[in-house]
Amino acid sequence: MIPFNKPYLSGKEAHYIFQAVYENNHISGNGKFTKACHQFFEERFGFKKTLLTTSCTDALEMASMLIDIQPGDEVIVPSYTFVSTALAFVRQGAKIVFADSRTDHPGIDEDKIEELITEKTKAIVPVHYAGVACDMDKIMALANKYNLFVVEDAAQAIDSYYKGKALGSIGHLGAFSFHETKNIQAGEGGLLAINDERFIKRAEILWEKGTNRAEFFRGEANKYGWVDIGSSFLPTDMVAAFLKAQLEQMEGIQKKRRLIWERYREGLAHLEESGQLKIPVVPEFATNNGHMFYVLCNSLEERSDLINHLKNDGAKAVFHYLSLHKSAYYSEKHDGREIPMSDYYDNCLLRLPFYYELKEQEQKHIIDSISVFYANK
Ligand SMILES: *Cc1c(COP(=O)(O)O)cnc(C)c1O
Repeated sequence: MIPFNKPYLSGKEAHYIFQAVYENNHISGNGKFTKACHQFFEERFGFKKTLLTTSCTDALEMASMLIDIQPGDEVIVPSYTFVSTALAFVRQGAKIVFADSRTDHPGIDEDKIEELITEKTKAIVPVHYAGVACDMDKIMALANKYNLFVVEDAAQAIDSYYKGKALGSIGHLGAFSFHETKNIQAGEGGLLAINDERFIKRAEILWEKGTNRAEFFRGEANKYGWVDIGSSFLPTDMVAAFLKAQLEQMEGIQKKRRLIWERYREGLAHLEESGQLKIPVVPEFATNNGHMFYVLCNSLEERSDLINHLKNDGAKAVFHYLSLHKSAYYSEKHDGREIPMSDYYDNCLLRLPFYYELKEQEQKHIIDSISVFYANK
């Protein structure tokens, strides 16, 4: 069976973890490896300040605290996204106003955000689905016009760009994931990118359980104590050591993943031309970081049949999000609007096996299997 995902390993992870634990003797958070990762992200992508977290969910929770979400504040989030994009704000008492997706892409429909803005709106949370940028100029223009915060959910978007700017560096804050399903992974892990300097000092405090510990260790305060809210958001230096081993290989990982993506595109283009299925569109303002390859079937039923067909041929393809406005937890709280494009991707989007080690002949097998499925329709 060709799996859907296989986490990438560079081979140096264990070595660096050994170093963190037995040589540096700094196993808790904010050690040498954490600092090296921060430096990498800040230099490479131009984030003003970064903080490693134990997940992207944590980074989003920190963002929610930093922009000071209060009960009743409204936050605009696409319905077609992972739970955490909304949950991080709901925990602070926000009311989620779900936005629809574009017709040509599962990302938020930038032209339909303005009609959702009210007096109570505090933030917009665009998700760069499949690592492909939302139209950030439009979103930032709305944020400026209505004085809103923008938190980019860049969980899937490492090393991807909007008009030359790194995703996660455009909004006030950005959140990344290093879950094992992402391009660069540490099992579980995340990163908060802070682009608005106003948030830097407080972010460090929230990160360290509401204390000014980081300041104290830099010699900028003569004692440290409880000064704010927060949590234990920082991961152990072992996670950072693991991550460092991956970041060193980023170039090669991304190159290989883009190659895999391109092979799928080439192999399936004939089905798009014959109008039998749709393949992903990357708008000209965006780059492709090879995070995922999906196809769009014509119906839920057709997608289920294709999943079974591929399974019988030894390949695991999986659907993705269930519209959050229809979720067990939030449907009662949703304002009742129809969100048709989100439901369309919920029903019709299918993700194909995608990982660094995926072999060319395995990919050919998957492409052939899909071609046979549609030839027999
Ligand atoms: C993976 C993912 C998350 C959650 O990341 P964790 O690191 O598992 O918390 C959030 N949003 C999106 C869009 C994701 O793809």
